[in-house]
Amino acid sequence: MFPNNLYRHYDWRKIAKKFRRKRIRQSIAKKRDELLEKEQNEQNKSPTYQAWLEEEAKRKQFEIEEENRIRREQEDNWCRIEVEAQRQWRALQVKLAEAREERAKQNAKIKLEWEQEQKKLQELKEQKEKELLEKKKLQEQQTKEIDDFLISGGETPEHLKVTLETNPNKPICPFFQKTSACRFFDACSRNHIRPGVSHIIVIPNFYTHYSLEKTSENEHGSDNSLEFEKHETYNHFKEFFYDVVYEMEKYGRILIFHVCCNHESHLRGNVFVEYETTRSALKSFKTFNGRWYGGKQLNVEFCAFESWKKAICGLHFSNRCPKGSACNFLHVFRNPKNLYSYDFFKREQEKTDNELNKKKYWRWSESPERITDPNKHSSKRSRSRKIRHSRSRSRRKRSRSRSTKSRSSRSYRSNSSKRRS
Ligand SMILES: [Zn+2]
Ligand SMILES: [Zn+2]
Repeated sequence: MFPNNLYRHYDWRKIAKKFRRKRIRQSIAKKRDELLEKEQNEQNKSPTYQAWLEEEAKRKQFEIEEENRIRREQEDNWCRIEVEAQRQWRALQVKLAEAREERAKQNAKIKLEWEQEQKKLQELKEQKEKELLEKKKLQEQQTKEIDDFLISGGETPEHLKVTLETNPNKPICPFFQKTSACRFFDACSRNHIRPGVSHIIVIPNFYTHYSLEKTSENEHGSDNSLEFEKHETYNHFKEFFYDVVYEMEKYGRILIFHVCCNHESHLRGNVFVEYETTRSALKSFKTFNGRWYGGKQLNVEFCAFESWKKAICGLHFSNRCPKGSACNFLHVFRNPKNLYSYDFFKREQEKTDNELNKKKYWRWSESPERITDPNKHSSKRSRSRKIRHSRSRSRRKRSRSRSTKSRSSRSYRSNSSKRRS
């Protein structure tokens, strides 16, 4: 029991002390509150405190007013900025609209121009197509006319009766006019006139032989080609001659056929063929143009030089051409058996004979009177020359009559001599 009473007292003391401390704390707090209240009351009653309070109230009021003023100013400022921004935005919108309008105008203009250009191009294209069609039609018609002409003959088609000029309004090239070839080819500054169709065709550089490539003359001053012509070139040429003439004769009767042995590139190996008719020449042209011979493609042209006499160099046969291989006139091979030859010398001879016959004043007569000399003032020397001519003429006549017997009946020369006899 004892210990229990003891413990009860200890707890009781502990609780009593606790309550005592509480009471002390409460009394201290009460005193402090009373003191504070008292001080506060005293302070409230003090005029300085009242003045301070008023001052404080005024300060707070000022602060509030100042804040309001600043806020209003800021609002005003913001409004101004906003107005300005809106004004700028509107101006920008106007500018943008203008730019859009301008761009639209530009686009419309470009589109219009493009459309016009397209239209023009289309028109041009249509025009070209139309022209091409017309050209094609014309070509077809011309081809038909040519075919008709080749098959059934008749008049030469009108469209072929034209001349092609390299330099119209320029002076005519005398070499081309005479030989249908010019050392400057079509780059010549003068005018080369080609016929649309003719009875003579020329195939440039058709015949080739290495001897024609040599341009130098030998040490004795004579032309190399002459040496070669006599020996091996001539045999080579003869083969070419028979081969080509046989083929070309299929398209019509050939009157003259000549092959150039000039060394100059514009005349070297040029083959000239004169047909009896334009129709035959045209047939031959159609067949041989673009055809191949010995690995070489042929380019056939029509030509219409003034005369064979002016084209061929007459001094070449007698080996007296002063220009030799550089001559710009035709140096032609002598055709075998003079077939299809333009006999320059023969015609010259005929002319001389005729002149001599006219001038002859000595004849057989019944009286001793002599026919008066038509050329009274001719000298003794010229008379003796005529006598020499007549003697040599008779000699030539005799030799010709011998050779005529051996000639072929196809020879142009023999035909003409028969006509003469
Ligand atoms: Zn020329
Ligand atoms: Zn010559």
